[in-house]
Amino acid sequence: MIKLIDPIEHLLNCIKKKYPNLKCLIQFDSDYQKNNNSESFANTCFPDDGSEPVITIDGTVPYSASLELISHEIAHVICHQELNQDLTKCSEEEAHSSVFKKEFEELHLLYSSTYKNYVDSFYL
Ligand SMILES: [Zn+2]
Repeated sequence: MIKLIDPIEHLLNCIKKKYPNLKCLIQFDSDYQKNNNSESFANTCFPDDGSEPVITIDGTVPYSASLELISHEIAHVICHQELNQDLTKCSEEEAHSSVFKKEFEELHLLYSSTYKNYVDSFYL
């Protein structure tokens, strides 16, 4: 049997446990910055029709950075879906409010406080 200790899987499992109804699609674009003429390495699109948000991560970023980017973007999805912040109409500053920062920090804490148990489970 081949096993993979995958930090992204662990992060998503943490999020699913805390927010079982959260919905979004995460995709990697091999050249997101270039394709979108963007200085950012990640983005979340909230479609006008209310369908699930799409998180895009630039595929050129290191694996460890993508983990942080996914957490950042999912904190936006949490603010939008769970806390009813309309992120389609707010400014960049409003999108990164204290509420957003609290969610982002909580994701980090949830992830880091359970990661050792996740890794240990592969060796039992
Ligand atoms: Zn952001």
